Amino acid sequence: MKITSYLQGRWIEGGGEGVPLRNPVTGEVLAYAGSDGVDLAAALDYARNQAGPRLRQLSYAGRARGLAAAAEVLIANRDRYQALAQANSGNTPADAAVDIDGGIGTLQYFAGLGQGLGEACFLREPGMARLARDKAFQAVHVLTPLTGVAIHINAFNFPSWGLWEKAAVALLAGVPVVAKPATATCLLSWAMVQDVIAAGVLPEGCLSLLCGGGHDLMKHVKGNDAVMFTGSADTAVRLRSEPQVVASNVRFNVEADSINCVLLGEDVTADSPLLADFVSEVVREMIVKAGQKCTAIRRILVPIALLDTVREVLLTKLACAQLGLPGAEGVRVGPLVNKAQQQAALTGIGVLRQEAELLCGGDIVVPEGADPEHSCYLQPTLLLAADPLSCRRIHDTEVFGPVATLMPYDSAQDAFLLAAQGGGSLACSVFTNNPEFATSAALALAPHHGRVLLVDDAVAASHTGHGIVMPQCVHGGPGRAGGGEELGGLRGLAFYHRRTAVQGDVVQLEALLGGAAEYVLS
Ligand code: NAP
Repeated sequence: MKITSYLQGRWIEGGGEGVPLRNPVTGEVLAYAGSDGVDLAAALDYARNQAGPRLRQLSYAGRARGLAAAAEVLIANRDRYQALAQANSGNTPADAAVDIDGGIGTLQYFAGLGQGLGEACFLREPGMARLARDKAFQAVHVLTPLTGVAIHINAFNFPSWGLWEKAAVALLAGVPVVAKPATATCLLSWAMVQDVIAAGVLPEGCLSLLCGGGHDLMKHVKGNDAVMFTGSADTAVRLRSEPQVVASNVRFNVEADSINCVLLGEDVTADSPLLADFVSEVVREMIVKAGQKCTAIRRILVPIALLDTVREVLLTKLACAQLGLPGAEGVRVGPLVNKAQQQAALTGIGVLRQEAELLCGGDIVVPEGADPEHSCYLQPTLLLAADPLSCRRIHDTEVFGPVATLMPYDSAQDAFLLAAQGGGSLACSVFTNNPEFATSAALALAPHHGRVLLVDDAVAASHTGHGIVMPQCVHGGPGRAGGGEELGGLRGLAFYHRRTAVQGDVVQLEALLGGAAEYVLS
């Protein structure tokens, strides 16, 4: 089967044989994806010139109804998507839920947000600024939707969530989308978009899908477009420095690698319930999606006095995490997505071992029922860096698999220094019941992270998790994490709007603002 692309309002097949998409348990070829010869310039022009105006004829509430209807279509087909996620990505049901339900939930959240914006077609900031002695002359800032196309380039690990979390925000803003999933796992994105297009719940052509290579896509961007990229730092640099991207000053948001950490407070004792919560969260982060999450915990910072205790409990829990066939009863650890990722993870573990001792795992494994030659499993792997402040590679090597490194610290200041050595990360969690420590940690860690999760006994059972991106909160991180920011409720809409200061007679400004919804961050 050849996977098609939906461009210029129709399904088209790329030339050539295409790249095989394989089942990472059996090696079976599920489909081929290729986009050779596709006219990408025409696809972008169609989105800009035909689909965009159609989409912007709708109010925010009108677009929100489309998002809500798209979510309903996806809910109706959820079981089929889970089977595809298992076949193409090796997802367990829990892994698939993070991706599929995360995508649907984000669509629904932005649909609700759009309903709240009502029949308006643009946004205004609250208040006006008086500019002269005469009170009549004032200024207001309005946000109008970009008139270009939103180009969404996604990583292989979230073929559903990556697609919908980006599309929801752009479509609500009134900007048509050309989404490009990573080729290796585009089967799920393709199936979902097929269903949504067939249901006719979105204005024609406002959601396009490019399956197969990106070719010279970046050569065709224009100044009013917006590019949202998720993937490796290397690809980000390559695409962001394309001459046409640089020359057009196109908005370019990057979500890239991240060496996220979790920090156990010095107040936590060996017998405190918070220690058990901490260990459970670390194990969950290591094994969900076999560690192929950009937000996954890679570095585990613990007070030196608790190192032995944490190490023993972690090793025991990891040994209990059953690895096997993704759909089988009790299996919590599935395979990596393909052989290339398995090899990259092995290489990465080799780099970590230059500075850290291997405590468990570290090698490939073939569970019963998996193909010995083609399956892509990696043992859950825990390492220990005894003197992490003197190390470099454990802080800059992202091993995209079920792999994390334990790091003892002597003082809070050392712990904050270690966290910062990640060079900028997406998420950091702090487990403590000491409010002073929580406050100082949040303030010390915030400049280096997009999100800080503070866990104490009061929220231990209710928090949403270290690695789960919530649509209400910004997602992104400074430095090596890409320097980008997406989602965050209404904040996310700003990327797809142009903010303009309008100056004039206050009576005229009030008349203008009659059609606006207020851009208030709550
Ligand atoms: P990747 O190899 O960098 O690819 C990312 C995307 O770029 C893919 O869709 C790829 O398409 C596309 N691409 C490559 N060349 C292109 C071109 N010339 N034009 C347009 N698109 C092009 O990354 P990956 O291996 O899929 O993902 C793993 C990485 O993503 C990890 O490092 C992880 O940390 C990061 N990640 C970050 C986040 C976050 O939110 N910060 C989330 C998930 C993953 P092809 O597949 O066709 O090559």
